[in-house]
Amino acid sequence: MALVTPTWMVKAIYKIRPATLKRLGIQAVLTDLDNTLIAWDNPNGTERLHNWLAEMQTAGITVMVVSNNSHQRVAKALAGLDLPFTARALKPLTVGIERAIKQLKLPKEACIMVGDQLMTDVIAGNSAGVRTVLVEPLVSTDQWNTLPNRFVEGFIKRHMKRQGTYKYLEDINDGQ
Ligand SMILES: [Mg+2]
Repeated sequence: MALVTPTWMVKAIYKIRPATLKRLGIQAVLTDLDNTLIAWDNPNGTERLHNWLAEMQTAGITVMVVSNNSHQRVAKALAGLDLPFTARALKPLTVGIERAIKQLKLPKEACIMVGDQLMTDVIAGNSAGVRTVLVEPLVSTDQWNTLPNRFVEGFIKRHMKRQGTYKYLEDINDGQ
């Protein structure tokens, strides 16, 4: 279960505060694209997201997209956000995350991986040795190809609930 258990859970990426990241020594937020940063029904991102990205920039924290989608698709989706990205990340494999970390020239401890899916984002992040954050999907109507993952996720989330580890925090926290 360790590989599918996120380090932290928050409802949305913008719950993660720059001050908390700094306190934890985190310099880069690696993030999934679809349903974590933007939703199909609002491809430009919400005002709240834009504000959060601006805060991260001011704090000197890099936000980099690690997506399984093609370069073309990610570049197009991020046209209005101006974020660095790596495409074809092959999550749940660690390829994309390792590529991103290498590109940023940061130690793993200084990076977190944020995403809305346990079976791809969280497993990939945990396998790569970075701390992971699970967020709620921005919209519940998903692409068809994530349905089998969602099915498995249902089992895992029920298990986590029984264990008492399924808890959304107000912000990520190291428990200290
Ligand atoms: Mg996603």
